[in-house]
Parts: sequence; C-alpha cells; structure tokens
Amino acid sequence: MAIGDLFTFREWDDTSWSDRAECRGLSAIFFPPAAERPQARERREAQARQVCQSCVVMFDCRDFARRNREYGFWGGESEEERHAAGFRLIAPIGVRARNIS
Ligand code: SF4
Repeated sequence: MAIGDLFTFREWDDTSWSDRAECRGLSAIFFPPAAERPQARERREAQARQVCQSCVVMFDCRDFARRNREYGFWGGESEEERHAAGFRLIAPIGVRARNIS
C-alpha cells in the first residue's frame, strides 16, 4: 500500500507555487506554539498576515489551504477565517479558544 492510499480524503495537487513563498524560514509565525494565548495569537497572525500581503502566490496558497483543510495561517487567512469562509475545520484555533473560555 502506498502512503497516498492512506490519505484518500486529501486532495493532492500541484504545490509548485510554494517555491515562490515569501514565508520560507518563518514557520514560527504561521503555526502556533502549544498553549498560545489569544493575545499572542493575534500578534503572531498579524505578523503572518503582513508577510502574506507581499507574497506573489497568496491566492494559490489560500486555495490550496482551503481545499486541503489545512491548519495554521495560509494565504493571508487564519484557521478561523478559513472555517468561517465555509472550509470547515474540526477545531479551528480561534473558535476553539472562544468555546473554552
Ligand atoms: S501567502 Fe503567506 S502562507 Fe502562503 S506562501 Fe505566501 S507567505 Fe506563505
């Protein structure tokens, strides 16, 4: 069995756009650390959003993340924003944090 057979739910597609990603080496601001506070998340996501605004592949990236239900900050969009746009995630970080408090 090929590893791809284990993930038949995922849409495998072209990721060559990522070669031109502005966020290379900046994953710390695109994915949350464990137990991140809401205020820290807002600051981190604001930094990520700023990087995305100057990225030439922003729309390819956003489409990819939406299609594949990715977690983290992709294409100028947070998990919560992706979820709200109709690309449902099981537990998007902003929605999850509000439900706990
Ligand atoms: S849009 Fe943002 S997350 Fe996507 S590749 Fe560009 S910088 Fe990275």
